[in-house]
Formats: sequence, C-alpha cells, structure tokens
Amino acid sequence: GDEGLIDGSSFADRRDDNAAKEVGVLAVVGRPNVGKSTLVNRILGRRAAVVEDTPGVTRDRVSYDAEWRGTDFKLVDTGGWEADVEGIDSAIASQAQIAVQLADAVVFVVDGQVGLTATDERIVKMLRSSGKPVTVAVNKIDDQVSEYMAAEFWKLGLGEPYPVSAMHGRGVGDLLDVALDKLEQAERTSGFLTPGNLRRVALVGRPNVGKSSLLNQLSHSERAVVNDLAGTTRDPVDEIVHLDGEDWLFIDTAGIKRRLHKLSGAEYYSSLRTQAAIERAELALVLFDASEPISDQDLKVMSSAVDAGRAVVLVFNKWDLMDEFDRQRMERLWKTEFDRVPWAQRVNLSAKTGWHTNRLTRAMHTALESWDKRIPTGKLNAFLGKIQAAHPHPLRGGKQPRILFATQASTRPPRFVIFATGFLEHGYRRYLERQLREEFGFEGTPIQISVNIRE
Ligand code: GDP
Ligand code: GDP
Repeated sequence: GDEGLIDGSSFADRRDDNAAKEVGVLAVVGRPNVGKSTLVNRILGRRAAVVEDTPGVTRDRVSYDAEWRGTDFKLVDTGGWEADVEGIDSAIASQAQIAVQLADAVVFVVDGQVGLTATDERIVKMLRSSGKPVTVAVNKIDDQVSEYMAAEFWKLGLGEPYPVSAMHGRGVGDLLDVALDKLEQAERTSGFLTPGNLRRVALVGRPNVGKSSLLNQLSHSERAVVNDLAGTTRDPVDEIVHLDGEDWLFIDTAGIKRRLHKLSGAEYYSSLRTQAAIERAELALVLFDASEPISDQDLKVMSSAVDAGRAVVLVFNKWDLMDEFDRQRMERLWKTEFDRVPWAQRVNLSAKTGWHTNRLTRAMHTALESWDKRIPTGKLNAFLGKIQAAHPHPLRGGKQPRILFATQASTRPPRFVIFATGFLEHGYRRYLERQLREEFGFEGTPIQISVNIRE
C-alpha cells in the first residue's frame, strides 16, 4: 500500500510524554522558617551551611537527586523561593501549590516549637484539594522530651505527624521511610521534566523577534523555575508561567533569555535548542517581528513546529511599531507566505506595551483542544461517505479510487488513516483535509492523513 501524507511532511511519532528517567518526585513544602531547607540538606547529606539566611533569595535550583535506602527520587525544595507577590500568605500558598503540582507526594513541614499557624492551615487546604499523599513532619523537636508537642498536629487531619529535628537528624529516617512508601504507592502524576498536568509551551522564533520580552511581559512576578539541571544556562530550564489564572509550563526559558546570537556557531546551536524545545512541547508559540520582512529563518522555525506535529499559535510581535502601510503589507504576506498554514491562528500583539497579550491564552486553548480532539469512527465515516458522494475522486485510467473506510488513529496531533481502493491524488487529499477542517474544526493544529491502498 501507499503511505502518503497530505502536505508531504513526514510523520514523526511522538515520543512518550515522560521519556525522562522515571523517578518519583517528593516536594517539601511549608511556610518560611519551619526548616524546609535544613531538612532538604539533611536528606541530601549536605552541611546546613548551604542554607540561605536571607529571606526572599531565589536559589538557582529547586530540584535535586536524592536517595534513601536504595530508592532514587527527586526532591523539590521550595525554601527560598522568591516571594514578591502581594500578600505573603498567598505567595507562599501559590509557590507551595506549584511544587505540589510538580510532585507525586509531599512532605509538609511545620514548626513544633511555634505550633499550628493560620498559614499552615491555608497550605493544608491546598494540599487536601491536590489529592497528593502527604506526610507531616513536625520539625524542631530536638529531643525526646519535646516529642509530645507533635501531637497537636493530628488536628490537621493529614494522618500521623512525625516529630523530627532537621538540624540534628532526629527522626528524619523514620519520616523518609513513610514518605517514600507513600511516594512509591502514589500514582505517577509527573515526570521530572514534564509535570504531567501542565501544558507545555515552546516560545520560538529567530533572534530579536522579542521572545524574552514576551516571556517577561507574560510572567510578571508569578513564575518559578522548575528545573535547572546543572545550574548553568547551557541546560534547559523550564518555568511555570501563570496566565489568566492558569499555569503553563514554558520549555527551556534559559534558551530564550540567552543572547545566543552573540556567540560563535550560535545559530546552529540555537536552532538545535529550538528543535529540542519544540520536541518537548505540546504547543509552539511562533514569534515573528511584524515590523520587519518575514525571513526564511522565520518560516523555517514555523515549519519545524508544524512538521513536528505540534499545536501552533502564530504571534506577530512589535505591533506598536506598525503604521497603516505596514499593516497592509502584513495582510498581503499573510495570504502568500503563510498559505501553508491557513488553519493557524494569528495574534497581533506588542510584547513591549503588553497590548493584546491577553489574547494569547484563548488561542492556546483553541489550538490544544484541536490537537487533542478525536472524531469517533462512525461520525468520520458518515462524513467521508457524504463528501465522497458529493465530490468523487476523478477517474484514473478508467478506474475510480474509492474511500472504503477511515479512522482517526491518534491524537496530538490528529492523525487519520484512510483505506482506499486506489491512489488518492494530492489535490483530492487536500480537498479531504479542507473538508475535515471545515466540518470538525482543528483550528490551530496540523492534521496528518495517510492513505492505505486495499486492492
Ligand atoms: P525554611 O525557610 O523553611 O527553608 O527554613 P530553614 O531551613 O532556613 O530554617 C529556618 C530556621 O530554623 C534556621 O535558623 C534553622 O537553623 C532553624 N532550624 C531548622 N531546623 C531546625 C531544627 O530541627 N531544630 C531547631 N532548633 N532549629 C531548626
Ligand atoms: P529575542 O532575541 O527573541 O529574545 O528578542 P528580545 O526580547 O531580546 O527583543 C529584541 C529587541 O526587540 C529588544 O530591543 C526589544 O526591546 C525589542 N522588542 C521586543 N518586543 C518588542 C515590541 O513589542 N515592540 C517594540 N517596539 N520592540 C520590541
């Protein structure tokens, strides 16, 4: 049989979502000063001297490889995360929330010497709604006579509170036994590099189109570094960006912020990096500088995303620089240079002023909904039967190729397999794609159609 694709691009099977080494993620959360960092250092076997004394200092790493009694796991430390959002309480809660979203299980640290506080209770509420398994560590119980102080925390309703002294190591082993037990039993909700419940976005485009400006404009204060493998900008750093009440995972933001084009061999390196970000993302925000002519490099970046089968939103930046003449030029370009992607959504905005940046999330949702969409086989075949009757394939050597059956083999992106009695011409395939899009939507996503010939 003939395997052909409608737009001639090759079909790359998506890698499994969690291709990174599968390890459980344990987050350590709690309000400031309860001893989270001390506990993390204790678990990692480091000296407490590493602990930052300055409140509000952002450490450049949040996640570490840890091991306990032969079990490898990732430890996410939220101590020292930046808290510059208004209202310290909500900032702490939202940082803890991010950590919890990343994690498969949680250690909730409270201060046994201080006792239960309102902030603790706030965090508990969030922990409950997350549904993640929680182990309560009552810290600063430095000796046996103080152990009774842990009992108060039964009130939290999170099960047995474990008295520990992060500073001296007391009780930390018992705590870890329990926490890792829960971690192992927990259903994996996340891979380390790809928190399972956040949508992954690659912000791509040639140098100077405004990627880092847009990232800054979008993220304001509410963002958190997810991983920093070696603490250098050579490695991918993912960030959670909060947009219109929702968290999105932006892939390899270190690559975005770095001025790669100033380095030698940078273009090659930068395009590899773009490619890698696209591979790991579900959706590509492809940026263009609307005030400049569209270049081959611009279109190449866009094609990478389309060919990789990612959901796509095209962003025309620097709209603040556009006059009437520029806008007309852009409309002409849209009809010529972008005819390959008539299904793509386009958002005109200004990263500099923030104008129309609030339109991004809707386009992103639409594209991802299309990317995820599945058309039931019955509906698909009924529809294809109808359009085939209205518009049969042209005769080929006296024969008429007919569509026998079709099915949507996969989503992300939608991929259709059509069984036909003969070769379907390029033009007819395009016609089918247009019809499928007209009937079922698929705005913002490439779709792939392969044809299988049954003689
Ligand atoms: P974080 O903000 O939750 O990360 O807290 P830190 O780890 O920075 O600790 C806050 C303060 O509590 C520091 O002064 C630590 O030395 C102290 N601390 C941490 N663990 C213990 C402990 O087990 N016992 C006592 N007495 N103090 C502790
Ligand atoms: P990147 O290389 O894609 O990350 O681009 P940058 O974000 O570094 O932006 C490149 C240049 O374009 C900088 O001088 C920005 O200030 C400027 N720039 C970015 N976005 C806009 C915009 O919306 N309007 C204007 N006028 N300038 C912008």
